[in-house]
Amino acid sequence: MDQVECVIVGAGVVGLAIARRLARAGREVVVLEAAEAIGTGTSSRNSEVIHAGIYYAAGSMMARMCVSGKTALYAYCRDHDIPHRNCGKLIVATRPEEVDKLQSIKARAAANGVGDMQLLSGKDARALEPALDCQAALLSPSTGIVDSHALMLSLRGEAEATGAAFAFHAPLLQARVQGEGIEIDVGGEAPMSLQCRLLINAAGLAATMVARRIDGMPVDRIPPAYLAKGNYFSCSARSPFSHLIYPVPEPGGLGVHLTLDLAGQAKFGPDVEWIDSIDYVVDPARANRFYPAIRRYWPGLPDGALIPGYAGIRPKIVPPAVAVQDFVIQGPHEHGVAGLINLFGIESPGLTSCLALADHVADLAQA
Ligand SMILES: Cc1cc2nc3c(=O)[nH]c(=O)nc-3n(C[C@H](O)[C@H](O)[C@H](O)COP(=O)(O)OP(=O)(O)OC[C@H]3O[C@@H](n4cnc5c(N)ncnc54)[C@H](O)[C@@H]3O)c2cc1C
Repeated sequence: MDQVECVIVGAGVVGLAIARRLARAGREVVVLEAAEAIGTGTSSRNSEVIHAGIYYAAGSMMARMCVSGKTALYAYCRDHDIPHRNCGKLIVATRPEEVDKLQSIKARAAANGVGDMQLLSGKDARALEPALDCQAALLSPSTGIVDSHALMLSLRGEAEATGAAFAFHAPLLQARVQGEGIEIDVGGEAPMSLQCRLLINAAGLAATMVARRIDGMPVDRIPPAYLAKGNYFSCSARSPFSHLIYPVPEPGGLGVHLTLDLAGQAKFGPDVEWIDSIDYVVDPARANRFYPAIRRYWPGLPDGALIPGYAGIRPKIVPPAVAVQDFVIQGPHEHGVAGLINLFGIESPGLTSCLALADHVADLAQA
């Protein structure tokens, strides 16, 4: 049986960042990817926003990984010529009763180490964005956007340049904890078995399923899995905005917000639709909910401008009734299996956090 030091399951942005990090530290790395290419899962079905770290509970993994990941990601983009823009974001209060909430969002951001948020009057917000209708706003200067595909290509390139190997059409089928290592059965086009000293489960939506396939992983340490789809609509009208525009968050989600791609084209979403199985089709009828929500801050949105776009699915590990979840990264300390690291619930801000998550996993892998 072939022996490898580290096997990473999943070549999404998180698996790629970990592969780069470990390969650059001199570890022998093989990445197993079930699909035909890198980044075909959630990593290519998101908003491509570099989040500031505003909303997460103070001290949570999400808050810590997002804030340090943001700084690392901006530096990486600058150093590697990855297209990105630090465009900033406005959180807008469109009703008088929402104005006070901006103050508490600012305080939460400050508790997370995001100390640059600025409260703006409606007049000052409209000076920045004349098409905007709002009572007041909160400016997040450190929010931005990134070309996630260019980022993933760069991470893969650096991982390969430092010796990491990639196997595509290579799903992990089963694994067994065996003494000092873990044996893995790989299916797909060239089935094989491997033995590794370190197995990293970065399988995104399938991470809980992959964990269940590891004989020796305690089942009671595997969280439940739920799917929360986020639908997007693109906009046929030219965007008058240069900042991302978010409403004050509602229970259960961030509200229908406007994000921009690097060409300046606006898209709206994601909303929250709990589903039972993976399905990326966007129902055009959902536009009926998007129009009134968007017109609260952009009254000029023309009729007929919304076009069904794409959807992504959040890998939830808490049910709909529980509003908040955190990243769960389990090493041997949590589950008792030497040489196994599981990443569960890596939803937003996983893209922003990818480099920080890779550092965290590398630290766990040393322990
Ligand atoms: C709607 C939406 C919007 C988002 N917007 C943002 C945003 O604006 N900013 C931000 O920071 N984050 C955002 N996120 C979060 C971000 O997209 C994810 O956290 C990130 O892409 C997760 O990457 P990943 O590598 O963990 O998972 P994935 O990209 O899903 O990669 C997992 C990989 O594992 C592979 N795999 C699965 N099973 C197996 C197996 N058995 N064997 C081998 N390979 C396997 C899959 O094929 C896949 O390629 C958003 C998420 C969603 C759903």
